[in-house]
Amino acid sequence: MSRPDAPERIDITRLKGVGPRAAERLAKLGLHTLEDVLFHLPFRYEDRTRITPIGGLRPEQGVVIEGEVLAADVVFGKRRSLLCKVGDGTGLVVLRFYHFSAAQKNALEKGRAIRVYGEPRPGAAGLEFYHPEYQTGPDLPPLEKSLTPIYPTTDGVSQKLLRNLAGQALQWLRTHEPEELIPAGLLDRGGLPGLAEALSKLHHPQPDDPVDLLLDGNHPAVKRLVMEEMVAHQLGMLAKRAGQKALQAPTLEGERLTGQLLKSLPFALTGAQQRVIGEIRADLRRHHPMLRLIQGDVGSGKTLVAAAAALVAMESGYQVALMAPTELLAEQHLNNFRQWLTPLGIQVHWLAGSVGVKARRETLAALADGSGALVVGTHALFQEAVAFQRLGLIIIDEQHRFGVQQRLALREKGRFGNQVPHQLTLTATPIPRTLAMSVYGDLDTSVIDEMPPGRKPIQTLALPTSRRDDVVARIRAACLEGTQAYWVCTLIEESDELQAQAAEATFETLREALPELTVELVHGRMKAKEKQERMARFSRGEAQLLVATTVIEVGVDVPNATLMVMENAERLGLAQLHQLRGRVGRGGAQSYCLLLYQTPLSQTAKKRLAVMRDTSDGFVIAEEDLKLRGPGEWLGTRQTGDLAFRIADLVRDEALMAPARQVAAELLANHPHQVERLLRRWLRGGEDFADV
Ligand code: ADP
Ligand code: MG
Repeated sequence: MSRPDAPERIDITRLKGVGPRAAERLAKLGLHTLEDVLFHLPFRYEDRTRITPIGGLRPEQGVVIEGEVLAADVVFGKRRSLLCKVGDGTGLVVLRFYHFSAAQKNALEKGRAIRVYGEPRPGAAGLEFYHPEYQTGPDLPPLEKSLTPIYPTTDGVSQKLLRNLAGQALQWLRTHEPEELIPAGLLDRGGLPGLAEALSKLHHPQPDDPVDLLLDGNHPAVKRLVMEEMVAHQLGMLAKRAGQKALQAPTLEGERLTGQLLKSLPFALTGAQQRVIGEIRADLRRHHPMLRLIQGDVGSGKTLVAAAAALVAMESGYQVALMAPTELLAEQHLNNFRQWLTPLGIQVHWLAGSVGVKARRETLAALADGSGALVVGTHALFQEAVAFQRLGLIIIDEQHRFGVQQRLALREKGRFGNQVPHQLTLTATPIPRTLAMSVYGDLDTSVIDEMPPGRKPIQTLALPTSRRDDVVARIRAACLEGTQAYWVCTLIEESDELQAQAAEATFETLREALPELTVELVHGRMKAKEKQERMARFSRGEAQLLVATTVIEVGVDVPNATLMVMENAERLGLAQLHQLRGRVGRGGAQSYCLLLYQTPLSQTAKKRLAVMRDTSDGFVIAEEDLKLRGPGEWLGTRQTGDLAFRIADLVRDEALMAPARQVAAELLANHPHQVERLLRRWLRGGEDFADV
């Protein structure tokens, strides 16, 4: 138990200015105690300590100016606005307000002293401040002495209140020493300041402090806190992991069925597939649930690895469910599994939105009475009506498209008291190492880092749309030589309908331009059955060119297709470009990917296209993607919950990750009190860690 005057035991309502209403709003920010306030850190600063002469203003720089109101007039342009001219002897600048009151206008009296905070922008009247913060005289208060912190906030909580609370918390720090939670000796704090000093530096940096260093995270005060935050983060993850490992799972083993399958294949496993299958087998033998993530580039042969795992479970008498995020992808698995497992006498059941009432009822009955050993499907699998007799293994493809809740729902279907099924997750968008360690604790991930033999790296070219005719000619030549091609239409619009229309239009044009070829079209608005039929015709080689929307991102496997054209490639992110490109290069012949782009290209788009041209390694692409997009957005698209760090930055602080892990493990083993305090201090108990 900590001291009664410890900051985590001082309720926020004991600070001045916090009544019950404010306390409620502050709670939304996770601020309940004095300690929470101390660790609620600014994300940027404004320099309100000096006045900038108007003559020296530069656009888009936050400044303070001080001068005299020269005029304030309501003008009627496109929009009614209040224009206030301010001069200080070095120049003139305009404040522009679109929303204003009569009282406001009257207060901006000619000749009044005025101080303005804000960022000027180029406008109709030269540099203008739009809706700036300002104060009017006659007497203006003294200027700020330290830089003004800007805090993350929420509706109804003003910066002023947060600044005021931080001020009180820092006052408290002057007479109290905050508890160091990472025992000296565990962490090399060489040269880094103590906690109190680091906190006051971040909340109230002095005007001569190097703000750049504070903001870009290279200041020792930031490093000091980043280290602690990362340790806390690792602890959160390890603790959650430990909780999961405390659950039971059935012991699964058996080699007979896998052996039969491997004997029936026309090829041998790659070394990487063998290794990963070995890792999975070892997991399944334990009576704790496996939570393993298999990362392997497109075409690396993950499906076969999944099939091997499924056979182990079935041989032990348990049921297996394989879930994929789209019907198309699920169908692809269904076909693979049927092709491989039917000869072994195993029936593969199918559950998806398009399954008819009768077939559905039969499948549900087989899963419930245990006669159905293996089911492949979509979201339909975790619906309420689905019950399993003995679900022992869940396989999830492309897990980032499922939410945590959905995955848990499926797991619950296999729960018996404290026992839950094993879980295997497949992903073709590799997780950058940096993130793997922080999001998944780097535990239980396997990498298939070897392609089946004979694959040649895809050659990628980026071309402006003005070269479209050349591209069409190239398709003609390639297809007449007997290979096949994809033309992928992309559209920013999320709407399936618009995407479908665009694809139809392209389909018509290409059909006209290439009368000697058979052209096929698939898009998301078609019925599953129709899509499947058209895709099957393409697979069988009855069509040479497949025009498609990004629906073909997953689940199409035609080794004879060696040419891919992507329209508007500049609009797609790296992960998606990589996924799409993976549709070619699946056979022995040299494949090509042509990225058509619209000019002008943004800087980021240029970089993305360059990355695609230069590498086909999914891990390199994932790291670049992370750098270009930043971890927030990267994680956001993966529904890993709120993993936002307060001050740490996964990319910038990568080097600290491994030491933080070690410290976390040590704390967990020997310092339970500190663990609890660190979690409370940094995570406030609310973070939702990904459970692979
Ligand atoms: P992904 O990892 O993208 O899911 P798949 O499992 O779909 O890859 O495999 C891609 C293709 O490679 C499939 O046609 C599959 O049958 C084939 N394949 C898988 N493993 C091997 C191997 N060891 N040797 C040759 N071909 C393989
Ligand atoms: Mg696959």
